[in-house]
Amino acid sequence: MNTLSSPATVAQDATHVFHRQLRHGLPVAVSGQGMTLTDASGKTYLDACGGAAVSCLGHGHPEVRAAMHAQIDRLTYAHTSFFTTGVAEELADLLIDTAPAGMSHVYFVSGGSEAVEAALKMARQYFVEIGQPQRRHFIARRQSYHGNTLGALAVGGNAWRREQFQPLLIDVTHVAPCYEYRDRRADESAEQYGQRLVAELSEAIERLGPQNVMAFVAETVGGATAGVLTAVPGYFKGVRELCDRHGILLILDEVMCGMGRTGTLHACEQEGVVPDLMTIAKGLGGGYQPIGAVLAQGRVVGAFRQGSGLFQHGHTYLGHAVACAAALAVQRVIQRDGLLAQVRERGAALQALLQQAFAGHPQVGDIRGRGLFWGLELVAERGSKRWFDPALRLHARVKSEAMAGGLMVYPMGGTVDGRCGDHILLAPPFIASEADLGEIVERLRAALDRAVAGCGA
Ligand code: PLP
Repeated sequence: MNTLSSPATVAQDATHVFHRQLRHGLPVAVSGQGMTLTDASGKTYLDACGGAAVSCLGHGHPEVRAAMHAQIDRLTYAHTSFFTTGVAEELADLLIDTAPAGMSHVYFVSGGSEAVEAALKMARQYFVEIGQPQRRHFIARRQSYHGNTLGALAVGGNAWRREQFQPLLIDVTHVAPCYEYRDRRADESAEQYGQRLVAELSEAIERLGPQNVMAFVAETVGGATAGVLTAVPGYFKGVRELCDRHGILLILDEVMCGMGRTGTLHACEQEGVVPDLMTIAKGLGGGYQPIGAVLAQGRVVGAFRQGSGLFQHGHTYLGHAVACAAALAVQRVIQRDGLLAQVRERGAALQALLQQAFAGHPQVGDIRGRGLFWGLELVAERGSKRWFDPALRLHARVKSEAMAGGLMVYPMGGTVDGRCGDHILLAPPFIASEADLGEIVERLRAALDRAVAGCGA
């Protein structure tokens, strides 16, 4: 395709790019500014999901662009087995200064799946270093998403994503996620429900033998699977206690929900727990460069230091200087402009707008979220919570209708194992104004109604 004369959309039979979707054409994005992206026809799209909860500062932020230009002029690439760089060191300092207690080091990678892979291998090697090599099992949760590389896919909790790639490379046992809307029984409180889930995890540990379990892996707030799953009070505290009792590492995946998205820099702050390893990505670089990281507790890093002195892992682009410069600029803007407080304040406004528009909507079963991270669970019938027939692909229809109406929302859905349903995720940039949020909700309401009508419902 000649990009100088790019058409507004590229049809699938006119592209050499191996797009993920091989049947549909795509609009050609040509520019981005603030809350909007523009395609080659000049049509604009209000970005209500930051792509996939990535663009926390919106598009084209002048200070991030300037920081990247300056870094490009100075140095773009220095392989990490030869050098460190000032920007990587500064970014690591900033991340540790703002990290939960005891975190001492940052392992840089290029994205979320790489961060999860690195955390899984770090856990494995940690137990080898401390003389417990028999610990080989991970426990993770159903209806979770941790990435698409083979290790991350194995811990991910959607059977339908894993199925065709079996056998996967590592041993994982899956337990129930914290999914209050569907799974809390009428006769239990939220706290009792959380205790029941912790008891289920405890049983899984006992079955495997606590001495054989490496780590429990969970998204602090579930994102890309079931429309923002927030934990009930006390759940993560119970999980943390159980891990401590058995010497099991707690790995929290904050690739999507972290870096301010839920109104605190790390979502685990709101749970009152500190993980042993934590993965971050998306909002770290805000989409300006591909970058992710694992934050590690000093105790874990200490075991490597006193043991082999080498983490048996690595990628060519670890700590890429331009990626670090972009992330450093993004994080400094967030700090300087008080954007975490803004996420909390605008988040409350978004919640109110969503309640107003959808609390009585016949196809919206649940509205849940934190900060600027919200999910709508779509149902064919509210009373029974029955999902739409997955063949209708309602989530995808909502996305298409939203795009037609100049709005980007993130759809999730489909299922083989009966536990996914249709969900719409909202994760607007932290710079969204109240007027932007009002516009987002209005366009979403129209898109949902058109999509539902298109299903014949
Ligand atoms: N972990 C979580 C919680 C995610 O939401 C994602 C992506 O959506 C990933 C890992 C994988 O990140 P990436 O797509 O950058 O590889």
